Amino acid sequence: GERAPTDLNELCDEYLRLSYHGLRAKDKTFNASLNTEFDPQAGTIYAVPQDLGRVLLNLLNNAFYAVAEKKKQQPDHYQPTVKISTRRIENRVIIRIEDNGTGIPQAVRDKIFQPFFTTKPSGAGTGLGLSLSYDIITKGHNGSLQVQTQEGEGTAFIIELPTTKETF
Ligand code: ADP
Ligand code: MG
Repeated sequence: GERAPTDLNELCDEYLRLSYHGLRAKDKTFNASLNTEFDPQAGTIYAVPQDLGRVLLNLLNNAFYAVAEKKKQQPDHYQPTVKISTRRIENRVIIRIEDNGTGIPQAVRDKIFQPFFTTKPSGAGTGLGLSLSYDIITKGHNGSLQVQTQEGEGTAFIIELPTTKETF
C-alpha cells in the first residue's frame, strides 16, 4: 500500500463502529458502551490507511472479544466498554485502544505478539492479528505498539506513530 494523508480520528471512529457492528451481526444480544476521546490536533497523518485500518480492526476485534468473554463469565453488574482515543504530542500521535474485558495473564502476555499464538477456540482466532499489527506499526510506519493489561480488569494497546513524511 501507499502512504497517504489520513484523517486519524475519522479512521479510528470508522473502525470502532465497523468492529462493533461485526460482532453484533453475529450476536444480536451483545451490547457494549463505545467511548471515544479524539484530540482535534491528531489531524492528518501520513500513513497507509488500509494497513492502519487493519491494525485498528485487529485490536478492536480483540477488545470486543475480551469484553464479550467477561460478560459470559459475569453477566451481572458488568458493562462491557471499549474506548479509543487519540493524542497528538509534537510530531507524533498516540492511539489508545482500551477495554475493561478479561485482561491478559502474565504467562500469556509474553507470547501474544508471536505468530499463530492464540488462546481462542479454533474458528475464533488465527493468532496472527497481533504479530501482523506489530509488523505494520513498527516496520511499515516506524512506530511502536505496546500493551498494558491487568488480569480480570482489562487491557490497553498503545500505538505511537510519527505524523510526517520526514519522520518515516
Ligand atoms: P487471535 O485474536 O486470533 O487469538 P491475536 O494475535 O489478535 O490472535 O491475539 C493473540 C492473543 O492475545 C489472543 O488469543 C488473546 O489471548 C490475547 N489478547 C489480545 N488482545 C487481547 C485483549 N484486548 N484482551 C485480552 N486478551 C487479548
Ligand atoms: Mg485477534
